Amino acid sequence: MNKQDVIALEPVLKENIWGGSRLVTEFHYREEGSGLGECWGISAHPHGDCKIAEGPYQGKTLSWLYQEHRELFGNIKSPEFPLLVKIIDAKDKLSIQVHPDDAYAKEHENGSLGKTECWYVMDCPENAELVIGHNAKTREELAEMVHAGRYEELIRRVPVKKGDFVQIIPGTIHAITEGMLILETQQSSDVTYRVYDYGRLMNGKPREIHVEQSIAVTNVPDEADKKGLLHTQNLAKNELHELISCEYYRVWKLDLAGSFTMKQDFPFLLLSVLEGEGRIGELAIKKGDHFILPTGYGNVFLSGTMELILSTADCTK
Ligand code: ZN
Repeated sequence: MNKQDVIALEPVLKENIWGGSRLVTEFHYREEGSGLGECWGISAHPHGDCKIAEGPYQGKTLSWLYQEHRELFGNIKSPEFPLLVKIIDAKDKLSIQVHPDDAYAKEHENGSLGKTECWYVMDCPENAELVIGHNAKTREELAEMVHAGRYEELIRRVPVKKGDFVQIIPGTIHAITEGMLILETQQSSDVTYRVYDYGRLMNGKPREIHVEQSIAVTNVPDEADKKGLLHTQNLAKNELHELISCEYYRVWKLDLAGSFTMKQDFPFLLLSVLEGEGRIGELAIKKGDHFILPTGYGNVFLSGTMELILSTADCTK
């Protein structure tokens, strides 16, 4: 018997101009619709606060649960629930962006958190490339290239395949490109500076570009394209593989074909099913489901044929 149950969440869906229809056709988050760019599967952020799907806290938000029952989260000190897990379906390319770190966001964005994020590439077209890093050697050169609109010269592109994993630290110029399906694990922040939007118009007008902030927070020089990319295509099954351990989160991949057991001795463990179906304990779970295993959950028994991404905010173990 587990002392605490699994906390199942109702995702929050976001419509975006670049969004596709896979969140409906493949993940069945909604009956119909298109232009759905993001599914915030595990989030307590004010821009998309997930509701608890069942059990004693059904209908309450994750932010409420985190504030009122911190014991389920190991009584961690973070004033807000620290992580946000989303699936991104980019039918079109996203604008090229950069995020501030905690210090800059605190000072310039009303005490908000900065944003470190990582991407697991769930699917992408052949010959897909992500935008990561840039070619300016100094901040002056960066400013010059941005002001002159020499973006194609500025940005770096890296080839990626399904199953690749990328860590994006603050100050990294980055963009998701068309046709990519990504699971993003990030600090719970929505602070984004738009560097370049490929000259696109929305309702007849270009979207706002955050020129000064972008120049201020971008790492220079930055060869982020040469770091932080991991290929996970040939991982052994039924084992937990760590993809990243940084200041803010730890993330693992699990390819299950049979069964797997682990101890949940983290303050909380987040779990997203990317493919397949199976069980956690007695509970049937399937592609597109997102869960929190709270403090006191005890031993985790997973069975079935599934691809999972797990994460926690505890980086001390
Ligand atoms: Zn980003």
